[in-house]
Amino acid sequence: SGCGICVKKCPFKAISIVNLPDELEEECSHRYGPNAFKLYRLPVPSPGMVLGLLGKNGTGKTTTIRILSGKIKPNLGRYDNPPDWPEIITYYRGSPLQQYFEKLSVGKLKVVHKPQYVDAIPRVVSGTVKELLNRVDERGILSDLTEELNLKHILDRDVNVLSGGELQLVVIAACVCRDADVYLFDEPSSYLDVRQRIKAAKAIRNLVKEDKIVVVAEHDLAILDYLSDQVCIFYGKPGVYGIVSHVHGVRDGINIYLDGFIPDENIRFRREPIRFHVKPPTPIWPIEEIMLSWNTMTKTYDGFKLNVRPGEIHKGEVIGILGPNGIGKTTFVKLIAGIELPDNAKTSPHKLKVSYKPQYISAEYEGSVKDLLKAAANTEFETSWYKVEILRSLHVESLLDRIVSDLSGGELQLVAIAACLSRRADIYLLDEPSAYLDVEERLAMARVIKRIVEAREAAAFVVEHDVVAQDFIADRLMVFTGKPGVEGVAMPPKPLREGMNLFLKEVEITFRRDPKTKRPRVNKENSKLDRYQKEIGEYYYIE
Ligand code: ADP
Ligand code: ADP
Repeated sequence: SGCGICVKKCPFKAISIVNLPDELEEECSHRYGPNAFKLYRLPVPSPGMVLGLLGKNGTGKTTTIRILSGKIKPNLGRYDNPPDWPEIITYYRGSPLQQYFEKLSVGKLKVVHKPQYVDAIPRVVSGTVKELLNRVDERGILSDLTEELNLKHILDRDVNVLSGGELQLVVIAACVCRDADVYLFDEPSSYLDVRQRIKAAKAIRNLVKEDKIVVVAEHDLAILDYLSDQVCIFYGKPGVYGIVSHVHGVRDGINIYLDGFIPDENIRFRREPIRFHVKPPTPIWPIEEIMLSWNTMTKTYDGFKLNVRPGEIHKGEVIGILGPNGIGKTTFVKLIAGIELPDNAKTSPHKLKVSYKPQYISAEYEGSVKDLLKAAANTEFETSWYKVEILRSLHVESLLDRIVSDLSGGELQLVAIAACLSRRADIYLLDEPSAYLDVEERLAMARVIKRIVEAREAAAFVVEHDVVAQDFIADRLMVFTGKPGVEGVAMPPKPLREGMNLFLKEVEITFRRDPKTKRPRVNKENSKLDRYQKEIGEYYYIE
């Protein structure tokens, strides 16, 4: 009711009282229940265009996708007395959504939907990749698509033995193969490496040639930019309400999101704009003391060999790791952590304490977030330093009383990062910390990793496929090259400019800068700028 008592008493801001303009109330498209999340407006997709959905986690992107897929019938806010289709259709009169819902309600709109979390799919689908894809190849494009997405070598594998990245690609392929009117992709890039992200984006973009409706929710800004023609911004109070902006062209839409201000609606939804640096920053603290150095190492598995070149990491330093999936990044991390021993070694090469966040995190913890973090942080948990630097900075303060197994993917990721950084260690290893995080959480995560490593005089390795996020996290870059699944080479750490150039040369992608926000944008293959940058060997930092 807004009496103000509970808000003051309520710990962790778990209750928020929201006063929204009355006009907006008339634009509620869905509400889950009393005091539950409310979505205002809906995006209007157009055939022959990829519409990107951009916004914080918990502002209703998945809800929107579920509405457009027909899984949720929009109740216009009346959860206790939900309207029938005719009323919903009348409500959207005059908008393209009227026709959309008319067709959807009578089963005349065929929709395919790639869900956000692919991890759960093997539990409901069985058989080999080939069997699965053959079943859904309604467009007869499977052989081209398996070539395009490089799936040939996994066709005979059982779906339940695939890695997260392989599974993501197979599910994207399965959606693209279907002959539908509408294609909805919820976070297609999680677990994919940079080359795979671009390939998946191309496969999705090909759908617009056939005048299909395509909607994609995505947090990797470079990929969203590459993928979309138009963008809708979701803003509001995560978990409480979300508002959908009008449709904008992709360049403007992403710039508006970064600015935090929507001019045509006169709405400021973030106080500070998000800005990018054009030049690689020089570290502001002296990197002098070596924390760990490693010699040439090899690690051989049946069918795979990793060669590690010598290198070193300093106190206070964050080394970003870039490279394709299956090239041995996790293996290197495990060698450093002492979980695996190099060939011909009997003991771990160092005696440092390591804290490790794996790529795939499990929610199988019986207990609350607070229990989990208390066990990791020990006595430090009660300190104000911990509250500010870890709990608040990583936005996990409001999650403390939640049960770990109930968390969403993004929430679980933040808790796993917090737990990793809570443990006292010399070396922190974080494998794909951005999976399921939104843009702002990615930037917050980058900042927290840097500050903790600095404060503890520790060092960190961060494996990350979001190139823009990597630019924020890393002081230096370690690039992995070779033949995925067969042989990998771990190069020595290099300064950011050199590392980015080395990596992007391999994947043949160049970035230009948006003149307004300085954000990196993927150049069109073979465009004038692409050719020029390749010629001068500047793939990322170009003014
Ligand atoms: P996004 O995709 O932008 O992260 P979602 O649409 O998944 O956002 O979720 C928006 C909010 O709606 C979240 O706070 C979520 O907990 C809530 N929510 C989602 N599904 C339900 C449901 N079935 N019942 C109640 N609340 C829900
Ligand atoms: P990345 O982290 O770069 O994706 P990984 O280090 O996880 O790559 O794996 C590199 C290769 O080594 C893959 O082909 C993987 O199947 C193989 N591999 C990893 N661990 C083992 C293991 N314990 N036994 C056999 N092969 C393994």
